[in-house]
Amino acid sequence: MAEQYRKKRDFSRTPEPAGGRRKPGKRPIFVIQKHDASRLHYDFRIEVDGVLKSWAVPKGPSTDPREKRLALPTEDHPLDYADFEGVIPEDQYGGGTVLVWDTGPYDNLTEKDGKTLPAGKAIEQGHILMRLHGKKLKGGYALQRTGKGKSARWLLVKTKDDAADARRNPVSTEPKSVLSGRTLSQIAHEEDNGADSQ
Ligand code: MN
Repeated sequence: MAEQYRKKRDFSRTPEPAGGRRKPGKRPIFVIQKHDASRLHYDFRIEVDGVLKSWAVPKGPSTDPREKRLALPTEDHPLDYADFEGVIPEDQYGGGTVLVWDTGPYDNLTEKDGKTLPAGKAIEQGHILMRLHGKKLKGGYALQRTGKGKSARWLLVKTKDDAADARRNPVSTEPKSVLSGRTLSQIAHEEDNGADSQ
């Protein structure tokens, strides 16, 4: 459910989708949105049981398996959010500019007792292993919860495979949207000029 998501937003004020249009496809997707809110961060979202499970990653994902990136759980988002780019008004929740930094299908590779553990269960249990098929990010990534209760933290880590690369730094070298080719400032300016207004 994306109930919390809807409660936090006034859809007469924000261009964000209310949800309910997009249906799950054959393969689940992931999306990473670069979000220039009060603090710049990357929202890492994976489709699980008809919603986008979401974490805010302040430093963004790394392709270096030695880099553990803090990931803060946020509310489930509707599937419609996966292709959202635009400017959220400053007086609305999450105000700031959003672009789709990477997206594509993903496979849930989490196993328990030799069997695939469904993604929802895996997240509940605090560990999910994924293979991403994005334009910028490929191969294995793990989300791992450490600690308990209020001190619980999630970490996003690249697993060691052919796509691991300690020298690549796509967060800084590949800043543009994979959907529109735009930068955050281009999106912000276009919306200022009314190019995207309806
Ligand atoms: Mn965000």
